[in-house]
Amino acid sequence: MQSQKKVEDLLKQYPLCDSCLGRQFSSEHRSLDYASKGRDLRQQAELTNTAEQQQQQKPCYICGSLLSNLDRYVELVVNAIKGYEFSSIIIGAKIPISITEKEDHLRAEMKLRGGETVKTNFTGELNRIVSRRLGVEAKHHVPDITVVIDTLIDHAEVTPRPLYVYGRYVKTQRGIPQKRRRCPECRGEGCPKCNLTGYSTSDSVEQRLSEPLLNLFKAGKVKFTWLGGEDTDSLVLGRGRPFYAEVSEPMVRKPSNLESVMQTVNGAIALKEISILEGVPSSDRGFTVTFESNAALDQPVAEDVVKKLETAFTGAAVTMTPPGRSSLTKKIHKLTVESVEGDDKKRLRLRVECDGGLSIRRFLTGENSEVKPNVAEVLERKVVLDESAPFDILDVGFET
Ligand SMILES: [Zn+2]
Ligand SMILES: [Zn+2]
Repeated sequence: MQSQKKVEDLLKQYPLCDSCLGRQFSSEHRSLDYASKGRDLRQQAELTNTAEQQQQQKPCYICGSLLSNLDRYVELVVNAIKGYEFSSIIIGAKIPISITEKEDHLRAEMKLRGGETVKTNFTGELNRIVSRRLGVEAKHHVPDITVVIDTLIDHAEVTPRPLYVYGRYVKTQRGIPQKRRRCPECRGEGCPKCNLTGYSTSDSVEQRLSEPLLNLFKAGKVKFTWLGGEDTDSLVLGRGRPFYAEVSEPMVRKPSNLESVMQTVNGAIALKEISILEGVPSSDRGFTVTFESNAALDQPVAEDVVKKLETAFTGAAVTMTPPGRSSLTKKIHKLTVESVEGDDKKRLRLRVECDGGLSIRRFLTGENSEVKPNVAEVLERKVVLDESAPFDILDVGFET
């Protein structure tokens, strides 16, 4: 048999473990794993005593002891992933290049066609053993956790896949900014003062939502994507403002008490909705905003002039040109003049439903002509927002 001769030649020159031997002849005995195949081939081979002794005493020429020490690496992985919640896993490995080179060299010299490499053999075995032992699926496509073993330093690096949540919050007290500020000490670099987060721990919507989410998922980081923003002194009412949060390095993926976080965040900032998404949120996030303005005019206007606002804007499109960016078109779905107050008719309250992302402030004041047309322009008056309560978000329309 041709392959038996080849096995004998190979074993005379190189000490090999069963797996590394079996793998070189992978096109035959397909049904067997490499180690069993290697064992069979070794038994059939007729070796001299010296060759057999060399086989028994020396470590494997290709892998050293990588494949005969699988149990040790299995333990390394199992210990590293303790405490993580997951239903699928993939294990990869960094192995010294010299190991790969030895296999290439041996295959070239002995004219072996070869098949799988020592690395895929090693990780394949680990995935098979670990997944069976823990009763989880081993899969390459979006596994819950990825483990990479560095065999040189005997270390297993665990990376859980981030998860995404969707929620809505309301804000019933003025004076709380939406976003966390950068740490004034280190300007976002991370320092002892900010606990290496790079963020100031002063009050904000983001801060109040972050901590409970971090605790719930035992996560490393949480990053928010807001559907629009409000002023520090604006309220957010109705169903609340939607947001997505990317939760990085979560140890918990399916908290049994997900909704308990709504009891935790239930003050001036209250979480009204929370759910875990199946995948990455879609980037198509069209939404509408209904707001009420609280502004003053520099000179009185006649009521019929104010009423013109309703016909001018309801159903109209405005152009928004943020500095240094290209123009966007936003639709004003409905504008209602709620009241023009005061003896001098200088207080103006509007209720507007518009596309999300419109700069409400600039739409009202016409500041820097960034939004055209705008309320100030149509009224031919200066519009000054009451900075202690400039506008409130009454509702945000959005379907997930
Ligand atoms: Zn080996
Ligand atoms: Zn800092």
